[in-house]
Amino acid sequence: MIRNIIHIDYDLCEACGRCVEVCPNQALQLVGNKPALVDPVLCDGSGKCVSQCPNGAATVQLTDAKPFDAEILKLRQRLLSIFPLSLFVSEK
Ligand code: SF4
Repeated sequence: MIRNIIHIDYDLCEACGRCVEVCPNQALQLVGNKPALVDPVLCDGSGKCVSQCPNGAATVQLTDAKPFDAEILKLRQRLLSIFPLSLFVSEK
């Protein structure tokens, strides 16, 4: 489906991590020192990260992506309360 989702312009990104810190869904994680979307279903497209980016590198753009899934988000948050965050991040 076409919907709003986070997009990072790596030419502008200085890897400060502010977008990662403010995401209420923990949809972004620093991977290899760059913010990466863990899974599109975790991004609700609200854009809280956009206003925190000092370089304009984080934007919300209409993209063909799987729909936001609140149930998967709840399950992931439950698992993260038990296991370390790094277990749920994969490098592409
Ligand atoms: S806030 Fe902007 S510059 Fe900082 S890590 Fe996120 S995208 Fe990169």
